[in-house]
Amino acid sequence: MEEKDLLKLSAKELTDLGVCPTCLNRKYNGAIFGDDTDKRLYLDDDIEILFVAKPRAVGHLCILSVPHYHDMSEAPDELNAKIMRFAKVLMRLLCEICGCERVYLCTMCDGPANHYHVQLIPRYKGEERGSRNFVKPRGEYVYDPRVVGEFRSKLEAFSKGE
Ligand SMILES: [Zn+2]
Repeated sequence: MEEKDLLKLSAKELTDLGVCPTCLNRKYNGAIFGDDTDKRLYLDDDIEILFVAKPRAVGHLCILSVPHYHDMSEAPDELNAKIMRFAKVLMRLLCEICGCERVYLCTMCDGPANHYHVQLIPRYKGEERGSRNFVKPRGEYVYDPRVVGEFRSKLEAFSKGE
């Protein structure tokens, strides 16, 4: 199969074939998941930080490893530590910028060619506490240039002070 023919397959079909949909999407400028430049908050050689396209809450975001790892058990300790340092600062920024009360954290391990990722899901005032925050119904991402700009500049400053 030609690489371009892979673009006709779903993310699940690609994953089952051992093809990473995230890398393919990037290579073909959003051909699978759409253009995500309005969601990207940070990128370096190790990690990428994005707002989720179908968020479970306003501010729902994802920290992905740039190299492929199945899950955190396969990733180097330094990378896991870096992801946790960024998760910590992102939790504070989500409360400060988006106004949530608390932030829930989970990790995903979705397939053989996977960018191990940590998801941060905000809980807002008036929402119930507990594990149902992990499965709140998904909505649509709404681009807010002020919010994106603030996250980008604070993450840039944080990464320089690391
Ligand atoms: Zn990939």
